[in-house]
Amino acid sequence: MSILRALTRYWLVILLILLVVGLQLGVGFVGVKGAGIGLKLARPGQPAPSPTLPAMVVSTSIPTNTPVPPTATPTPTFTPSPTRTPTPTDTPTGTLTPTNTPSPPPTPTNTFTPTPGPTPIGGDVTLEVPILMYHYLSTPPADADVYRRDLSVSPPQFEAHLAYLRQEGYQTISLWQLAYALSGQATLPARPIILTFDDGYRDNYENAFPLLRQYGYTGVFFIFTYPIDASNPDYLSWDMVVEMHRAGMEFGSHSYRHWDLRGRDVDLLVYEIVGSKEAIEAHIGEPVRFFSYPAGRYDDLTIRVLDSAHFWSAVTTEWGFEQSFSNRFQMPRFRVRGSDTVDDLAEKLNSF
Ligand SMILES: [Zn+2]
Repeated sequence: MSILRALTRYWLVILLILLVVGLQLGVGFVGVKGAGIGLKLARPGQPAPSPTLPAMVVSTSIPTNTPVPPTATPTPTFTPSPTRTPTPTDTPTGTLTPTNTPSPPPTPTNTFTPTPGPTPIGGDVTLEVPILMYHYLSTPPADADVYRRDLSVSPPQFEAHLAYLRQEGYQTISLWQLAYALSGQATLPARPIILTFDDGYRDNYENAFPLLRQYGYTGVFFIFTYPIDASNPDYLSWDMVVEMHRAGMEFGSHSYRHWDLRGRDVDLLVYEIVGSKEAIEAHIGEPVRFFSYPAGRYDDLTIRVLDSAHFWSAVTTEWGFEQSFSNRFQMPRFRVRGSDTVDDLAEKLNSF
């Protein structure tokens, strides 16, 4: 059979063979273009490498690969091995998971409706009302330091003060009365005076309380509640607070731990101020509206937290007797020193 006759006879078979070969070459060409730079040529019968593999090799192979001599035959660098599998480093571990169940916030123990406090009718009001500031009401111990002595007024000395005030016609008022008077909604008795006691020492119950009752006077006791909660015997107990309140004594907050309240964040101020306020309210069954700054220290944020917590006013340790609505969170007082005789007290009260 001549070639010509064979071509004529099997032309269809030859055409099919040429067609198959041509198709295979075409697939190979497309594979090179589609895989892009860095991939091995995809040949028929060999699986094309995943496009993600080169990135893995680049990012992880440097520190873990055994150095390959430059003369060595290059080995496929895209073959993934178990040691190259990236180890997740951001998987949350046990230390990131809270291990303690958050306790629910304490349930408020009172149902008082917050009120904004009395506001002035017809402009600001300024009244001259002396506010005396006492601390310890006992004879200081023999080894007391200068600070303790300065803060301690003995019971006989205190009684002499009370006798003088009665003789001069002073009448004790509450901070409630003053708040309404400063808003123009109440009038005060002649010669009003407010007696305050800071810190809530136990001698306030043992010595000041009976003398105040004996003279028909009332006092405002600014207590910080941590030592009371801790049953510290140097401070009032809650039973004493309740007994004194029922007898007409007034209670205000002096914070929770007596910390310096300057430069604090809102969370701490709320903890110190509102925590103490609610503790006192829970025991006396009456809203607490008045605050005494621990050691007289405060800043603008302290005042803003007091205002937002529905306090009506606050007393400082600044000297003075002019009280006004606009200055209600910075009310001045007269410090009574341990060495103050009746004459010293009279001089302070007659200084205005
Ligand atoms: Zn204090």
